Amino acid sequence: MTVPDPFQRRRVGRPCHYNSPQPSCAFIGAAASASVLASRKRARPVKRRSSISGFQQETVSRAKKLFSDERWDAIAKRLVLMDESSPEISLSEGHWVKLICGASFEDVADVRNLSLIYTLAGVDCIDCAADSAIVAAVKEGIAAASYVMQSLGNELGSLKRQPWVMISISDNEDPHFRKAEFNAEYCPVNCPRPCERVCPASAIKFEELNQGATINHLEGGVTVERCYGCGRCIPICPLGLISARSYARPLETVASLIVNDNVDAVEIHTGAGHLKAFEDLILQLGGVLTSLKLIAVSVPDLGESMIPTLRAMYTSMQPFARTLNLWQLDGRPMSGDIGAGASRAAIILAQKVTKSRDRPPGYIQLAGGTNAHTATALRKVGLYGRMAFQEHEIPCNQENGSNPVLVAGVAYGGYARKIVQKFLRKMEEGIDGHYDGCTRRQLELYPGLLADAVLEAASLVDGIKCGGS
Ligand code: SF4
Ligand code: SF4
Repeated sequence: MTVPDPFQRRRVGRPCHYNSPQPSCAFIGAAASASVLASRKRARPVKRRSSISGFQQETVSRAKKLFSDERWDAIAKRLVLMDESSPEISLSEGHWVKLICGASFEDVADVRNLSLIYTLAGVDCIDCAADSAIVAAVKEGIAAASYVMQSLGNELGSLKRQPWVMISISDNEDPHFRKAEFNAEYCPVNCPRPCERVCPASAIKFEELNQGATINHLEGGVTVERCYGCGRCIPICPLGLISARSYARPLETVASLIVNDNVDAVEIHTGAGHLKAFEDLILQLGGVLTSLKLIAVSVPDLGESMIPTLRAMYTSMQPFARTLNLWQLDGRPMSGDIGAGASRAAIILAQKVTKSRDRPPGYIQLAGGTNAHTATALRKVGLYGRMAFQEHEIPCNQENGSNPVLVAGVAYGGYARKIVQKFLRKMEEGIDGHYDGCTRRQLELYPGLLADAVLEAASLVDGIKCGGS
C-alpha cells in the first residue's frame, strides 16, 4: 500500500472546526459569535457593535438565559478549574479519562452528542471509529462544547482544554470490529424478540407488517451504524439466526485519516497470537505514526506470554513512537454496563502488569468492564493515586524501576454511553424542547437535558479526576 507522507499533515494550529466562527448549530453559533466579538471589542475598542444584528442579539440573550441556571454555573466552574490541566498532564499525574464511543459505532448524531457531553465533563480523550465522518462528528461535538462554554459568558471562561481525538484500529479479527446481522424475514412473528431487549445500543428494531388484523411478517433487523459488535444478541436467538461479520477498515483509510484528519492518537487492538500481524501493521503504517501524540495498544490478558508479548510489541513500535505510548489493559471487553464487578478482570490484569519489572515502558490504562465502581476498586488495591512526577515530566521512556507504577487512567465505554442514553433518547422524543420546532439531534439545543447529561457524565469522570468515591 502507499502510505501518505506524514509531513503533509498540517501541524500548525487546531483544525478549522475549532477556529471557525460558523458552528453547525446556528443557535449556539450566534452566541459564540457574540462572545468572540465581545472579546475582540475589549482588545480593540473600535466600532464592532453593529456587526451583530438585532436578531442575533436576541438569540444571544436567549442562549445566555437558557444556560444560566445553577447547573451550568457548576459545570463551567468545574471546567475552568480543569483548564489548568491537559491530556499530557492527566497521563503523567494518573488522572487520565478516555471516552470510548465504540470502534464500530457509527451513529453520527450520537457520537457528536456523546463527544459534546463528555468534553463538557472533562475527559482527556475521545476514542472513535476510524472513519472520517465519525472523526468529524467527534470534532463537531468538541466544537459545540466550546461554543456552549463561550455562551455562558466570559467571566466563566471558554473551553481552552480540549480532549484528544483517537481512532481505533485492529491488527486482525477482533470483536470490537464486527457487526451483527440477520434476516428478519426468517423471524417467527410470535418470537418474543430477546435480541431486541438485550441490545445495549438499541440497534435492533422490527416493524410488524400486517395482513388484515394479524401480523403477517416482520421487517427490520440490525441498524448497522448503531451496532458496535458486543455480540450479546448472537447466543440469545433461539433459532440461531444472528451471525457476526468482520468490520475492519482498510489500512489506506486509516493512514489517510491520520494524515489528513488531524487525529491526535491511534489505538491498535490486538490479541493472543497476533504478534506477527501487529508487527506487520506497525511496519505498514510506519512513518505515519510519528506524527501522533499518542500510540495506544489495547490488549486483553495474554496469560503467561503477556509481558514478553508487550515487550516485543514495544520493540516493533520503538522506531515510530516519537511521543507517548500507552497500554490499554482490556480486562473484560465491552462489559462495563453489565454490573458492579465487571471491572474486576481489568484490575487483576493491571496488578499483574504493574508488578512485573520486565514490563515495557508506557502508561498503563484500564478498559473493559470499567464503570462507576472502577475508581474505588483501583484505590482499594493501591493502584490509584497521583503519580509523583513533576509537571510535564513524562515517564514513558524512562527505564523500569525509576518511576512509581500506578495506573495512568481509565477508559469508559459501554457504561459511559449507557448513563447518558436516557438524555439522548429524551431529546429525540422532543421532551424538554426549549427550541420550538427544532428537530435536529443536537443536544445543546436542549440546555436542561444537556446540563443533566453533563452532570451525570461528570460524576463518572470525577471518580478518577477527583480521587474516587
Ligand atoms: S446486541 Fe451488540 S452485536 Fe447485537 S446488534 Fe446490539 S450492539 Fe450489535
Ligand atoms: S431472537 Fe432470533 S428469531 Fe427472535 S426476533 Fe431475534 S433474530 Fe428473530
